[in-house]
Amino acid sequence: MAQQNGRNIPLEDKIFGISRLANEMIAEKGEKAVTNATIGALLDDEGKLVVLSSVVEVLKNLAPEDYAEYAPIGGTAEFKQCIKKAAFGKYQPKCFTEAVATPGGTGAIRNTIDNYSKIGDQVLTSDWYWANYSSIAQEMGRTATTYSLFDDGSNFNIAAFKEKVEKLLSEQESLVIIINTPAHNPTGYSLTLEDWDKLLKTVKEIAGEDKKVTLLVDVAYIDFAGDPDKYREFLPKLENLPANILPVISYSASKTFTLYGMRCGAMICMTPVKEVAQEFVRVCQFSSRASWSNCPRASMVVLSKIYEDKALLERVDKERSYYCDLLLKRGKAFEEEAAKAGLKIVPFDAGFFASIPCDNPDEISKKLQQQGIFLVPLAKGLRVSIASITEKECRMLPAKILAAMK
Ligand code: PLP
Repeated sequence: MAQQNGRNIPLEDKIFGISRLANEMIAEKGEKAVTNATIGALLDDEGKLVVLSSVVEVLKNLAPEDYAEYAPIGGTAEFKQCIKKAAFGKYQPKCFTEAVATPGGTGAIRNTIDNYSKIGDQVLTSDWYWANYSSIAQEMGRTATTYSLFDDGSNFNIAAFKEKVEKLLSEQESLVIIINTPAHNPTGYSLTLEDWDKLLKTVKEIAGEDKKVTLLVDVAYIDFAGDPDKYREFLPKLENLPANILPVISYSASKTFTLYGMRCGAMICMTPVKEVAQEFVRVCQFSSRASWSNCPRASMVVLSKIYEDKALLERVDKERSYYCDLLLKRGKAFEEEAAKAGLKIVPFDAGFFASIPCDNPDEISKKLQQQGIFLVPLAKGLRVSIASITEKECRMLPAKILAAMK
Protein backbone atom coordinates (compact mmCIF):
# COMPACT_ATOMS: atom_id res chain seq x y z
CA MET A 1 0.00 0.00 0.00
CA ALA A 2 2.81 2.40 0.88
CA GLN A 3 4.45 4.81 -1.57
CA GLN A 4 8.24 4.78 -1.71
CA ASN A 5 8.51 8.39 -2.93
CA GLY A 6 12.18 7.97 -3.83
CA ARG A 7 13.14 6.92 -0.33
CA ASN A 8 15.30 3.92 0.43
CA ILE A 9 13.38 2.30 3.31
CA PRO A 10 15.06 -0.80 4.77
CA LEU A 11 13.07 -3.77 6.09
CA GLU A 12 14.54 -3.23 9.54
CA ASP A 13 16.70 -0.51 11.13
CA LYS A 14 20.20 -2.02 11.09
CA ILE A 15 21.18 -1.04 14.63
CA PHE A 16 17.92 -2.18 16.22
CA GLY A 17 18.13 -5.40 14.19
CA ILE A 18 21.58 -6.29 15.54
CA SER A 19 20.61 -5.25 19.04
CA ARG A 20 17.66 -7.65 18.77
CA LEU A 21 20.09 -10.48 17.87
CA ALA A 22 22.20 -9.56 20.90
CA ASN A 23 19.15 -9.74 23.15
CA GLU A 24 18.17 -13.10 21.70
CA MET A 25 21.64 -14.45 22.51
CA ILE A 26 21.39 -13.01 26.03
CA ALA A 27 18.06 -14.83 26.50
CA GLU A 28 19.65 -18.07 25.31
CA LYS A 29 23.15 -17.95 26.84
CA GLY A 30 22.98 -15.32 29.57
CA GLU A 31 24.31 -11.77 29.93
CA LYS A 32 27.91 -12.76 30.58
CA ALA A 33 28.16 -14.43 27.16
CA VAL A 34 27.35 -11.24 25.26
CA THR A 35 29.06 -7.88 24.63
CA ASN A 36 26.44 -5.60 23.13
CA ALA A 37 28.35 -2.62 21.75
CA THR A 38 25.51 -1.47 19.50
CA ILE A 39 23.49 0.68 21.91
CA GLY A 40 23.64 4.47 21.49
CA ALA A 41 23.04 5.26 25.14
CA LEU A 42 25.31 5.40 28.16
CA LEU A 43 25.01 2.28 30.33
CA ASP A 44 26.67 1.78 33.70
CA ASP A 45 29.00 -1.13 34.44
CA GLU A 46 26.00 -3.30 35.33
CA GLY A 47 24.49 -2.69 31.90
CA LYS A 48 21.73 -0.39 33.21
CA LEU A 49 20.83 2.89 31.49
CA VAL A 50 22.52 5.81 33.25
CA VAL A 51 19.79 8.23 34.37
CA LEU A 52 20.90 11.30 36.34
CA SER A 53 19.13 11.02 39.71
CA SER A 54 19.15 14.82 40.14
CA VAL A 55 17.12 15.11 36.92
CA VAL A 56 14.75 12.30 37.97
CA GLU A 57 14.00 14.14 41.24
CA VAL A 58 12.82 17.20 39.33
CA LEU A 59 10.78 15.07 36.98
CA LYS A 60 9.03 13.30 39.84
CA ASN A 61 8.00 16.59 41.42
CA LEU A 62 6.27 18.03 38.36
CA ALA A 63 2.71 19.31 38.73
CA PRO A 64 0.05 17.93 36.34
CA GLU A 65 -0.09 21.19 34.36
CA ASP A 66 3.67 20.93 33.79
CA TYR A 67 3.12 17.97 31.50
CA ALA A 68 -0.56 18.00 30.56
CA GLU A 69 -0.67 21.49 29.05
CA TYR A 70 0.51 22.21 25.52
CA ALA A 71 3.79 24.11 25.28
CA PRO A 72 4.14 27.02 22.85
CA ILE A 73 5.34 25.79 19.43
CA GLY A 74 8.78 27.36 19.78
CA GLY A 75 9.12 26.39 23.47
CA THR A 76 8.32 28.20 26.71
CA ALA A 77 10.15 31.50 27.33
CA GLU A 78 12.08 29.98 30.27
CA PHE A 79 13.08 26.97 28.19
CA LYS A 80 14.35 29.11 25.31
CA GLN A 81 16.58 30.98 27.76
CA CYS A 82 17.94 27.94 29.56
CA ILE A 83 18.54 25.78 26.50
CA LYS A 84 20.81 28.54 25.18
CA LYS A 85 22.69 28.51 28.49
CA ALA A 86 22.98 24.72 28.25
CA ALA A 87 24.28 24.88 24.69
CA PHE A 88 26.66 27.84 25.07
CA GLY A 89 27.85 27.24 28.67
CA LYS A 90 30.02 30.14 29.89
CA TYR A 91 30.34 31.55 26.37
CA GLN A 92 28.13 34.56 25.68
CA PRO A 93 27.61 35.05 21.94
CA LYS A 94 27.98 38.57 20.61
CA CYS A 95 25.45 38.11 17.82
CA PHE A 96 21.72 37.43 17.48
CA THR A 97 20.77 34.03 18.80
CA GLU A 98 17.28 32.54 18.74
CA ALA A 99 16.22 29.12 20.00
CA VAL A 100 13.33 27.02 18.74
CA ALA A 101 12.37 23.91 20.73
CA THR A 102 12.66 20.60 18.88
CA PRO A 103 12.01 16.98 19.86
CA GLY A 104 15.69 16.15 20.46
CA GLY A 105 18.51 16.92 18.09
CA THR A 106 16.69 14.94 15.41
CA GLY A 107 14.00 17.63 15.15
CA ALA A 108 16.64 20.35 14.81
CA ILE A 109 18.31 18.47 11.95
CA ARG A 110 14.95 17.95 10.27
CA ASN A 111 13.87 21.59 10.51
CA THR A 112 17.25 22.88 9.31
CA ILE A 113 17.26 20.70 6.20
CA ASP A 114 13.62 21.57 5.55
CA ASN A 115 14.14 25.33 5.72
CA TYR A 116 17.67 25.91 4.47
CA SER A 117 17.86 23.58 1.46
CA LYS A 118 15.61 23.16 -1.55
CA ILE A 119 13.71 20.02 -2.53
CA GLY A 120 16.10 18.00 -4.71
CA ASP A 121 19.23 19.53 -3.14
CA GLN A 122 22.16 17.59 -1.78
CA VAL A 123 23.07 18.05 1.86
CA LEU A 124 26.73 17.62 2.76
CA THR A 125 28.22 15.59 5.60
CA SER A 126 31.35 13.46 6.08
CA ASP A 127 31.74 9.88 4.84
CA TRP A 128 31.64 8.58 8.41
CA TYR A 129 28.22 9.78 9.53
CA TRP A 130 25.12 9.09 11.58
CA ALA A 131 22.87 7.18 9.15
CA ASN A 132 19.80 9.13 10.18
CA TYR A 133 21.13 12.24 8.38
CA SER A 134 20.52 10.46 5.10
CA SER A 135 17.06 9.21 6.21
CA ILE A 136 16.01 12.71 7.28
CA ALA A 137 17.24 14.18 3.99
CA GLN A 138 15.42 11.53 1.96
CA GLU A 139 12.24 11.98 3.95
CA MET A 140 12.15 15.56 2.70
CA GLY A 141 13.08 14.95 -0.93
CA ARG A 142 16.78 15.76 -0.49
CA THR A 143 19.80 13.45 -0.49
CA ALA A 144 22.93 13.29 1.65
CA THR A 145 26.31 13.39 -0.03
CA THR A 146 29.71 13.06 1.61
CA TYR A 147 33.35 14.13 1.61
CA SER A 148 36.14 12.02 2.98
CA LEU A 149 36.54 13.07 6.65
CA PHE A 150 40.21 12.11 7.02
CA ASP A 151 43.21 12.48 4.75
CA ASP A 152 46.04 9.95 4.47
CA GLY A 153 47.71 11.48 7.50
CA SER A 154 44.51 10.95 9.58
CA ASN A 155 43.85 14.69 9.73
CA PHE A 156 40.63 16.52 8.91
CA ASN A 157 40.52 16.38 5.11
CA ILE A 158 40.16 20.03 4.24
CA ALA A 159 41.03 19.39 0.56
CA ALA A 160 38.19 16.88 0.16
CA PHE A 161 35.83 19.22 2.02
CA LYS A 162 36.77 22.13 -0.22
CA GLU A 163 36.38 20.13 -3.41
CA LYS A 164 32.90 18.96 -2.45
CA VAL A 165 31.68 22.38 -1.27
CA GLU A 166 32.96 23.92 -4.51
CA LYS A 167 31.16 21.32 -6.61
CA LEU A 168 27.88 21.59 -4.73
CA LEU A 169 27.84 25.36 -4.72
CA SER A 170 28.46 25.42 -8.44
CA GLU A 171 25.25 23.39 -8.83
CA GLN A 172 23.08 24.72 -5.98
CA GLU A 173 22.16 28.17 -4.73
CA SER A 174 22.34 27.05 -1.14
CA LEU A 175 23.98 24.32 0.88
CA VAL A 176 23.37 22.73 4.27
CA ILE A 177 26.59 21.29 5.72
CA ILE A 178 26.21 18.98 8.72
CA ILE A 179 29.16 18.95 11.10
CA ASN A 180 28.90 16.59 14.03
CA THR A 181 31.45 17.64 16.63
CA PRO A 182 32.75 17.22 19.31
CA ALA A 183 32.81 13.47 19.91
CA HIS A 184 31.45 12.62 16.48
CA ASN A 185 29.17 9.65 15.94
CA PRO A 186 30.48 7.14 14.79
CA THR A 187 34.23 7.94 15.12
CA GLY A 188 34.62 9.92 18.34
CA TYR A 189 36.58 12.60 16.43
CA SER A 190 36.39 16.25 17.52
CA LEU A 191 37.28 19.03 15.11
CA THR A 192 40.32 20.94 16.42
CA LEU A 193 40.31 24.75 16.52
CA GLU A 194 42.64 24.66 13.51
CA ASP A 195 40.21 22.38 11.65
CA TRP A 196 37.48 24.94 12.36
CA ASP A 197 39.61 27.82 11.06
CA LYS A 198 40.34 25.99 7.83
CA LEU A 199 36.72 24.93 7.41
CA LEU A 200 35.32 28.43 7.96
CA LYS A 201 37.90 30.07 5.72
CA THR A 202 37.01 27.61 2.95
CA VAL A 203 33.27 28.13 3.32
CA LYS A 204 33.68 31.92 3.32
CA GLU A 205 35.85 31.85 0.20
CA ILE A 206 33.56 29.55 -1.76
CA ALA A 207 30.26 31.08 -0.66
CA GLY A 208 31.36 34.58 -1.61
CA GLU A 209 28.58 37.08 -1.10
CA ASP A 210 25.66 35.39 -2.79
CA LYS A 211 25.63 31.65 -2.07
CA LYS A 212 23.76 30.66 1.08
CA VAL A 213 25.45 28.21 3.41
CA THR A 214 23.94 26.80 6.58
CA LEU A 215 26.40 25.19 8.97
CA LEU A 216 24.37 22.71 10.96
CA VAL A 217 26.57 22.01 13.97
CA ASP A 218 25.29 18.85 15.62
CA VAL A 219 26.62 18.95 19.18
CA ALA A 220 24.61 15.95 20.43
CA TYR A 221 27.62 14.62 22.41
CA ILE A 222 29.20 17.91 23.56
CA ASP A 223 28.63 17.25 27.25
CA PHE A 224 30.21 13.81 27.14
CA ALA A 225 33.42 14.86 25.39
CA GLY A 226 35.34 16.13 28.44
CA ASP A 227 35.90 19.63 29.89
CA PRO A 228 32.69 21.53 28.91
CA ASP A 229 34.51 24.86 28.49
CA LYS A 230 37.31 23.46 26.38
CA TYR A 231 34.86 21.73 24.06
CA ARG A 232 32.97 24.99 23.58
CA GLU A 233 36.05 26.99 22.53
CA PHE A 234 35.09 26.74 18.86
CA LEU A 235 31.78 28.55 19.38
CA PRO A 236 33.10 32.16 19.22
CA LYS A 237 34.40 31.37 15.74
CA LEU A 238 30.79 31.06 14.62
CA GLU A 239 29.65 34.50 15.70
CA ASN A 240 29.52 37.26 13.16
CA LEU A 241 30.20 35.25 10.05
CA PRO A 242 29.00 36.93 6.84
CA ALA A 243 25.21 37.27 6.64
CA ASN A 244 24.93 34.53 3.99
CA ILE A 245 26.55 31.91 6.27
CA LEU A 246 24.27 30.77 9.05
CA PRO A 247 25.43 28.54 11.89
CA VAL A 248 22.60 26.53 13.45
CA ILE A 249 23.44 24.63 16.62
CA SER A 250 21.52 21.40 17.01
CA TYR A 251 21.43 20.86 20.77
CA SER A 252 20.04 17.72 22.36
CA ALA A 253 18.97 17.11 25.95
CA SER A 254 18.89 13.36 25.26
CA LYS A 255 22.44 12.65 26.39
CA THR A 256 23.26 15.76 28.43
CA PHE A 257 20.30 15.37 30.79
CA THR A 258 19.66 11.65 30.16
CA LEU A 259 16.23 12.54 28.76
CA TYR A 260 16.49 10.44 25.59
CA GLY A 261 12.84 9.40 25.61
CA MET A 262 11.46 12.81 26.59
CA ARG A 263 12.31 14.31 23.21
CA CYS A 264 13.88 17.56 24.25
CA GLY A 265 16.27 19.75 22.28
CA ALA A 266 16.56 22.95 20.34
CA MET A 267 17.89 24.54 17.20
CA ILE A 268 19.77 27.75 17.91
CA CYS A 269 20.85 30.19 15.21
CA MET A 270 23.84 32.55 15.45
CA THR A 271 23.80 35.52 13.11
CA PRO A 272 24.90 39.16 12.97
CA VAL A 273 21.64 40.01 11.15
CA LYS A 274 18.50 40.53 13.23
CA GLU A 275 16.15 39.80 10.30
CA VAL A 276 17.86 36.46 9.65
CA ALA A 277 17.25 35.49 13.28
CA GLN A 278 13.61 36.59 13.12
CA GLU A 279 13.08 34.67 9.90
CA PHE A 280 14.71 31.61 11.52
CA VAL A 281 12.10 31.60 14.29
CA ARG A 282 9.21 32.12 11.88
CA VAL A 283 10.14 29.40 9.37
CA CYS A 284 11.26 26.84 11.94
CA GLN A 285 8.13 27.26 14.04
CA PHE A 286 6.07 26.80 10.88
CA SER A 287 7.84 23.47 10.23
CA SER A 288 7.37 22.39 13.83
CA ARG A 289 3.67 23.18 13.71
CA ALA A 290 3.31 21.21 10.49
CA SER A 291 5.22 18.13 11.69
CA TRP A 292 5.13 17.43 15.46
CA SER A 293 3.34 20.63 16.49
CA ASN A 294 4.66 21.25 19.97
CA CYS A 295 7.31 19.43 22.00
CA PRO A 296 6.70 17.86 25.43
CA ARG A 297 6.23 20.55 28.06
CA ALA A 298 7.46 18.28 30.86
CA SER A 299 11.07 18.20 29.69
CA MET A 300 11.04 21.98 29.12
CA VAL A 301 9.87 22.52 32.69
CA VAL A 302 12.49 20.10 34.01
CA LEU A 303 15.28 22.05 32.32
CA SER A 304 13.84 25.40 33.42
CA LYS A 305 13.72 24.23 37.04
CA ILE A 306 17.31 23.01 36.87
CA TYR A 307 18.56 26.34 35.49
CA GLU A 308 16.66 28.50 37.98
CA ASP A 309 18.28 26.71 40.94
CA LYS A 310 22.08 27.17 41.04
CA ALA A 311 22.65 24.39 43.58
CA LEU A 312 20.54 21.97 41.59
CA LEU A 313 22.38 22.81 38.37
CA GLU A 314 25.68 22.17 40.14
CA ARG A 315 24.41 18.76 41.29
CA VAL A 316 23.33 17.84 37.76
CA ASP A 317 26.70 18.94 36.33
CA LYS A 318 28.59 17.05 39.01
CA GLU A 319 26.63 13.89 38.46
CA ARG A 320 27.12 14.10 34.69
CA SER A 321 30.81 14.77 35.16
CA TYR A 322 31.15 11.48 37.10
CA TYR A 323 29.63 9.52 34.21
CA CYS A 324 31.57 11.51 31.64
CA ASP A 325 34.80 10.43 33.39
CA LEU A 326 33.61 6.83 33.34
CA LEU A 327 33.00 7.10 29.59
CA LEU A 328 36.35 8.78 28.93
CA LYS A 329 38.15 5.98 30.80
CA ARG A 330 36.43 3.42 28.61
CA GLY A 331 37.43 5.35 25.47
CA LYS A 332 41.06 5.59 26.57
CA ALA A 333 41.10 1.88 27.44
CA PHE A 334 39.80 0.99 23.98
CA GLU A 335 42.32 3.29 22.29
CA GLU A 336 45.22 1.92 24.37
CA GLU A 337 44.40 -1.73 23.71
CA ALA A 338 43.86 -1.06 20.00
CA ALA A 339 47.35 0.48 19.84
CA LYS A 340 48.85 -2.44 21.76
CA ALA A 341 47.13 -5.01 19.56
CA GLY A 342 47.97 -3.14 16.36
CA LEU A 343 44.31 -2.55 15.46
CA LYS A 344 43.90 0.57 13.32
CA ILE A 345 41.06 2.75 14.51
CA VAL A 346 39.64 5.93 13.00
CA PRO A 347 41.09 9.05 14.76
CA PHE A 348 39.32 9.09 18.12
CA ASP A 349 38.98 11.82 20.70
CA ALA A 350 36.02 11.15 22.98
CA GLY A 351 32.36 10.30 23.26
CA PHE A 352 30.03 7.35 22.90
CA PHE A 353 31.58 5.64 19.88
CA ALA A 354 34.79 4.56 18.18
CA SER A 355 35.18 3.06 14.71
CA ILE A 356 37.44 0.59 12.97
CA PRO A 357 37.99 0.99 9.23
CA CYS A 358 37.66 -2.24 7.23
CA ASP A 359 36.61 -3.47 3.80
CA ASN A 360 34.08 -6.13 4.75
CA PRO A 361 32.27 -4.88 7.88
CA ASP A 362 29.19 -7.11 7.46
CA GLU A 363 31.26 -10.26 7.27
CA ILE A 364 33.48 -9.36 10.25
CA SER A 365 30.46 -8.31 12.26
CA LYS A 366 28.81 -11.71 11.65
CA LYS A 367 32.00 -13.53 12.66
CA LEU A 368 32.14 -11.56 15.91
CA GLN A 369 28.46 -12.24 16.60
CA GLN A 370 29.26 -15.95 16.78
CA GLN A 371 31.55 -15.10 19.70
CA GLY A 372 28.85 -13.03 21.38
CA ILE A 373 30.27 -9.65 20.25
CA PHE A 374 27.77 -7.29 18.65
CA LEU A 375 29.03 -4.20 16.78
CA VAL A 376 27.39 -2.07 14.09
CA PRO A 377 28.67 -2.58 10.53
CA LEU A 378 28.76 0.70 8.60
CA ALA A 379 29.68 1.43 4.98
CA LYS A 380 33.33 2.03 5.84
CA GLY A 381 33.90 -0.10 8.91
CA LEU A 382 32.63 -1.17 12.30
CA ARG A 383 31.20 1.04 15.04
CA VAL A 384 31.81 0.16 18.68
CA SER A 385 29.59 1.76 21.29
CA ILE A 386 32.00 2.23 24.17
CA ALA A 387 29.12 3.91 26.00
CA SER A 388 27.29 0.61 26.39
CA ILE A 389 30.13 -1.68 27.50
CA THR A 390 32.48 -1.82 30.50
CA GLU A 391 36.12 -0.74 30.62
CA LYS A 392 37.05 -4.42 30.84
CA GLU A 393 35.15 -5.13 27.63
CA CYS A 394 36.79 -2.10 25.99
CA ARG A 395 40.15 -3.67 26.82
CA MET A 396 39.13 -7.10 25.57
CA LEU A 397 37.57 -6.05 22.23
CA PRO A 398 40.47 -4.76 20.07
CA ALA A 399 42.37 -8.08 19.98
CA LYS A 400 39.15 -9.98 19.22
CA ILE A 401 38.21 -7.59 16.41
CA LEU A 402 41.69 -7.86 14.95
CA ALA A 403 41.53 -11.67 15.06
CA ALA A 404 38.15 -11.62 13.26
CA MET A 405 39.64 -9.39 10.56
CA LYS A 406 42.43 -11.83 9.78
N1 PLP B 1 23.05 13.53 16.23
C1 PLP B 1 23.73 12.41 16.39
C2 PLP B 1 25.06 12.30 15.75
C3 PLP B 1 23.18 11.35 17.13
O1 PLP B 1 23.88 10.23 17.26
C4 PLP B 1 21.91 11.51 17.71
C5 PLP B 1 21.31 10.41 18.47
O2 PLP B 1 21.67 9.30 18.43
C6 PLP B 1 21.24 12.73 17.52
C7 PLP B 1 21.84 13.71 16.77
C8 PLP B 1 19.89 13.07 18.02
O3 PLP B 1 19.45 12.48 19.12
P1 PLP B 1 18.10 12.97 19.78
O4 PLP B 1 17.11 13.21 18.70
O5 PLP B 1 17.71 11.87 20.69
O6 PLP B 1 18.41 14.22 20.52
